[in-house]
Amino acid sequence: MPGLFDKKDFVCVHRGTDPLEASLLRGLLESEGIPARTSGEELVGAYSGVPRLCDIRVLVPARYETPARGVLKAYEARAPGAAEWTCAGCGESNESTFEVCWSCGAARPDRPEA
Ligand SMILES: [Zn+2]
Repeated sequence: MPGLFDKKDFVCVHRGTDPLEASLLRGLLESEGIPARTSGEELVGAYSGVPRLCDIRVLVPARYETPARGVLKAYEARAPGAAEWTCAGCGESNESTFEVCWSCGAARPDRPEA
């Protein structure tokens, strides 16, 4: 998606479809002293209700890439259910943050009901 973010000294350390997650990760990086920013949120409004078309990125200055990846790796390691899940109804892959399938609306299968 050229043009959305053109500063070449920034590198993308996370790609996803969830602007809330991207915002959370940015806050996490900033709390570690890493000046992070996100791009792509503007697409959410343009394609509201169709999250798979969104391409949210978390970017950091190139010199912070290594520590940033370490922070994100630690976050992902302790985040519950961080892996994508596959819908039993239609077979599509869903982001770990989705409670229902983006494609057919089926409930997440491996999540115990309260
Ligand atoms: Zn489905």
